[in-house]
Amino acid sequence: MTQTNQVASNTTESNNDPLAIHYRAIAVDMHADTVQRVLDEHVDLQQELKDGHLDAVRAKAGGLDAQFFSIWVEPQLFGLGGAKAVKRADDQIEAVRELAERHPETWKLATTAADVRQAASDGKIAALLGLEGGYAIDEKLENVDRYYQLGVRYMSPAWSVSTSWAGSSGDDVGATRGLNDFGKSVVREMNRLGMMVDVSHVSDKTFWDIVNTSTKPVVATHSACRAIADVPRNLTDDMIVALAKTGGVVNVIFYPEHIEPGWTQKKKKLDAEIAPLVQQASANEPGDAVHKKLARDRVRAEQYAKRLPPVTVARIVDHIDHIVKLVGVDHVGIGSDFDGVQATTADLATVADLPNLTRELLTRGYSESDVTKILGGNMLRVMEAQNRP
Ligand SMILES: [Zn+2]
Repeated sequence: MTQTNQVASNTTESNNDPLAIHYRAIAVDMHADTVQRVLDEHVDLQQELKDGHLDAVRAKAGGLDAQFFSIWVEPQLFGLGGAKAVKRADDQIEAVRELAERHPETWKLATTAADVRQAASDGKIAALLGLEGGYAIDEKLENVDRYYQLGVRYMSPAWSVSTSWAGSSGDDVGATRGLNDFGKSVVREMNRLGMMVDVSHVSDKTFWDIVNTSTKPVVATHSACRAIADVPRNLTDDMIVALAKTGGVVNVIFYPEHIEPGWTQKKKKLDAEIAPLVQQASANEPGDAVHKKLARDRVRAEQYAKRLPPVTVARIVDHIDHIVKLVGVDHVGIGSDFDGVQATTADLATVADLPNLTRELLTRGYSESDVTKILGGNMLRVMEAQNRP
């Protein structure tokens, strides 16, 4: 009797421990820049890499089931449009497709929530595509359809540089620029196709134009709350409420600059101090402009880790809590920005640490059902809603 009871109680405990809950959930990360590493640094994502934040080995350890790869066109290097920008996007898409084709035992190229669920039940990682910045559509509506056909399932109209048709939160012109008529037609075309509209990086004016134009749930793939960390990249409470009203989801970014109050000012000060070091690294790098940028980013990452205050996963959960208190648990998710940032939190430093997020959520009183929604369930719902009339 005693023995049986003990076994039963052990089973219950192991079924409900944070790791078991974490691995049961389908975890969907809405944003990582890893595919640029595949192109520019030729990293092999099948190996456990010594640097960076994501590869297949660490993704498996971290219980990640689906990764949206950011197809990011850096305008300073590849232009705000034109053949070079289009090629940069196409090369990244090809690299993700190749990854899935070469390693079908690990990856499954996915475009729907059903694909993601299937990959999770097969023990594979779903690889999905999101276009960061609308530069690659080259101001042509037909290119939205072209990217949809290539498998792209979200697009943010602008990254840190405004386009002619959408303002960015990252430059001066964005302060007064929303969507023009072409921008609105892009949003309508995305709605028609079932491509999610991403408000991360857009200006406030563009945000409001998007939520007022879109007929489908709108998402922020990697943003946080301005009420906690007052940076232009984050969303105000009014924006979070409006986005939730569309049925959408704010996917909280893990980057210290966007989640920790005051971190951005400290970073700016440090950036000024290390500018000579950064320039030196750039000058010493014999490669092309892309490799010079990598060299600069490596120095920044080293210096930030050494000289900026550490931030923990608890701060990420502060943002999740804030959104839940504002609009409920159905409108929050995760968007790490792994491999796109030069700093991470101390205890969620790579995808392998993802269970620490679940631990912190459970500590704060979230139920398994809540955790399942936050880790990916909410985004699966939004993906399903895109193709409904
Ligand atoms: Zn970004």
